[in-house]
Amino acid sequence: MSEIKRVYTFGNGEAEGKAEMKNLLGGKGANLAEMNLIGVPVPPGFTITTDVCTEYTQQGKDVVVGLLKSEVEKAIAYVEKLMNCGFGCKENPLLVSVRSGSRVSMPGMMDTVLNLGLNDEAVESIAKKSGNERFAWDSYRRFVQMYGDVVLGMKPKSKEDIDPFEEIMEHMKDAKGVHLDTELSVDDLKELVKQFKAAVKKQTGNDFPVSPWEQLWGAICAVFDSWMNERAVTYRRMYQIPEEWGTAVNVQAMVFGNLGETSATGVAFTRDAATGEDLFNGEYLINAQGEDVVAGIRTPQQITLIGSKRWAEAQNVSEADRAAKYPSLEEIMPVCAQELFKIEQKLEDYFKDMQDIEFTIQDGKLWILQTRNGKRTGAAMVKIAMDMFRQKYFDEKEVLKRMEAAKLDELLHPIFDRTALKSAKVMAKGLPASPGAATGKIVFFADDAVAQKEKRQNTILVRIETSPEDLAGMDAAKGILTARGGMTSHAAVVARGMGKCCVSGAGEIKVDYKARTLEMKGKQYKEGDWISINGSTGEVYDGQVPTQDAELDGDFGAIMDICEKYTRMDVRTNADSPKDAEVARKFGAKGIGLCRTEHMFFETDRIKAMREMILAHDTEGRKEALKKLLPMQRGDFEGIFTAMDGFGVTVRLLDPPLHEFVPHQLETQRALAEDMGMTLEEVKLACDALEEFNPMLGHRGCRLGNTYPEITEMQARAIIEAAINVQAKGVKVFPEIMVPLIGTPQELKFQTDIIHATAKAVFAEKGATVDYKVGTMIEVPRAALVADKVAPIADFFSFGTNDLTQMTYGYSRDDAGKFMKVYQELGILKNDPFEVLDQEGVGQLIKMACEKGRGIKKDLKLGICGEHGGEPSSVQFCDSVGIMNYVSCSPFRVPIARVAAAQSAALSGVTATE
Ligand code: PEP
Ligand code: MG
Repeated sequence: MSEIKRVYTFGNGEAEGKAEMKNLLGGKGANLAEMNLIGVPVPPGFTITTDVCTEYTQQGKDVVVGLLKSEVEKAIAYVEKLMNCGFGCKENPLLVSVRSGSRVSMPGMMDTVLNLGLNDEAVESIAKKSGNERFAWDSYRRFVQMYGDVVLGMKPKSKEDIDPFEEIMEHMKDAKGVHLDTELSVDDLKELVKQFKAAVKKQTGNDFPVSPWEQLWGAICAVFDSWMNERAVTYRRMYQIPEEWGTAVNVQAMVFGNLGETSATGVAFTRDAATGEDLFNGEYLINAQGEDVVAGIRTPQQITLIGSKRWAEAQNVSEADRAAKYPSLEEIMPVCAQELFKIEQKLEDYFKDMQDIEFTIQDGKLWILQTRNGKRTGAAMVKIAMDMFRQKYFDEKEVLKRMEAAKLDELLHPIFDRTALKSAKVMAKGLPASPGAATGKIVFFADDAVAQKEKRQNTILVRIETSPEDLAGMDAAKGILTARGGMTSHAAVVARGMGKCCVSGAGEIKVDYKARTLEMKGKQYKEGDWISINGSTGEVYDGQVPTQDAELDGDFGAIMDICEKYTRMDVRTNADSPKDAEVARKFGAKGIGLCRTEHMFFETDRIKAMREMILAHDTEGRKEALKKLLPMQRGDFEGIFTAMDGFGVTVRLLDPPLHEFVPHQLETQRALAEDMGMTLEEVKLACDALEEFNPMLGHRGCRLGNTYPEITEMQARAIIEAAINVQAKGVKVFPEIMVPLIGTPQELKFQTDIIHATAKAVFAEKGATVDYKVGTMIEVPRAALVADKVAPIADFFSFGTNDLTQMTYGYSRDDAGKFMKVYQELGILKNDPFEVLDQEGVGQLIKMACEKGRGIKKDLKLGICGEHGGEPSSVQFCDSVGIMNYVSCSPFRVPIARVAAAQSAALSGVTATE
């Protein structure tokens, strides 16, 4: 009968497992084994496999303990031998830690028990051995509390419940008149242990287990149980981690950094996690336990001499003081430090990535407790990958793999000063709608933002929601904060387009336009008060938090060059102004995939003509107003075509419902009435008549151009005339006219007929021609379904995934914020589909439309221009469809899309240059 192996030991340069066995041993267990094999000193121990976790869930505690018993006993004997002490031995007790460790890291989701093996006898031996009675008793009271909470189920179930141990501790501190645990005496700690045990007896009916074996089995089972706890289940759901993966259990000999002046503990990084600099760095504390380093009670010291000197300079500490009070580990324990330097290099070379290492020095002996790939900033991600490529750790495909595309954002926008952020107070949280950091004085109205900008004042425009009328103010403000609206709300889309920091849908903030106040967490802010917002995290801060500009250094450019080599899809940009087009070009955009013409109508001189057009009584009146708009539009297009010299520019015809353009405030309505020679009543009535029950599905898109063909005619004329004009100046221009929101081929046909007829007329008038294309957006599900009938009339399809998502799900783009968070929490939706393309449903429509379209027309150009065009997983989906020509996204997302597209192509094994 072949025995299943359930326990893998490691220690003293030997291990039964190895790094490749992550699935069976979990990430932590596999790395602990591997470190032994490559000669790194790791406290000995053993790993119980993830398969046992599955057996545990299926067969229960008793069966599994039976199955494990002899293997665990042998493994403990192995550890005892290597540590030269005994589990349960009175004189020389072995203490162990019991920790979880799944295939992928699930930080803080499962349970851990430390100092296991302590009882009334062991504590005395440890006190004697360490010469530190306080340490022994403090460890003991921590163990009883941890074991009680984790294994004996005494952890509070809800926020209202009180942890019985915390309660006892609070009483003790009150009675002794102290604030900190560390101020309690040894006798106080002894008393605490007594009271903790009494609490266990009272709540569970049983005595606290004194047998280390009973403690160990309890802890092993508790770790397995914690795989199914609520936190872990939710986390797995969020990150799509299958339940059957299970967790391993790592049992390891405890080593102590708090045994006196020859002991220490610390955390180190093989490179700088903030900047990426290739410099080993980290902090340590003499005579301390791991948690003391992060707890902030004592100031941790730097490991290296160079780090220590830099620290002293930043802290204004003199060299004499530094050397006397805060020496580096390199100075104070040179032998251990040198060993640590060798090990960190070895680990980085071996794992070929920046490592985050935990270590403990017990009585002058160095132990490594953990190594893992370190978390890092976007800037560090780029620098480390390029440095390691140049240092020949890996090839350029690996550089691409190492890029977390979304993190590049951090490099492109201003960021908060890191030190200042540490003490900043978070007042509210909304959606991270458009990345970057902004700090400014509160204004509530767009014109105030504009006025303040003229006075060189930085502002944050705070609105319940934004409308196209706020455009100039959004441009003038440093950042935008709204109470309502999702990731594709007006504020979010426009802000991303501008590269402007925006937090949207911060539901907990209260905005009162009349009183000009903002309320957050009970604090009232007036106009002119300072706030700061982080569009990358959605956080809103009290007061002024200093920001700093992002710098795009050579490594960023080098990564972009690698992308260029591998990508098979172009990345275009969504831009409505020459300024945005130029920014996007700098980031590598190859053309404009969506120019929303409506944004051009909101500037002060244009909105008037636009309103005249909308409120005109008849076609003649509309035509008169359109005549005024024609030269303005033509001028805009000339600017954009020139900025995109050499690349295609897709201009979309007017799309939004007309009521968005008319005034809703009495003052502006009155002014308009005067301008147009109408009564206020007439203007009001006309505006009201434009109101719709469901404007997103109402009189918008090509329905405007089909009911008012003169609008299409004017826009087509402006585009073609502009193209001919700039072409005459030597600009290479490729206009692509795009019809929005079609659902039937006939809707498109009516529009293309007008466009072609207009182009023909302009060619005749000008005595010149220009190459142009006419295509359509596919954003109504019906258009995708009948794509084969649409393709014969279109030169290109551009998927408007914002509307396509809205109409496929039946979720309003502007109202989905009300339930989206709850849906995600409940697991009804994995992601917000307005942010991450729903590949299963909406993606299916896209794929089908691509195939149907190309089936009819081989050279049909295909692209996407919804917000998903800048979201990495959605870009990768578009690449995987295999036949998309481009994705288009707001300027500041261009580099992200380029990396995502290149990653997808490089991993699929096909490159553009091959
Ligand atoms: C879309 O619907 O995806 C799109 C790009 O158009 P808009 O967001 O302007 O409706
Ligand atoms: Mg749309």
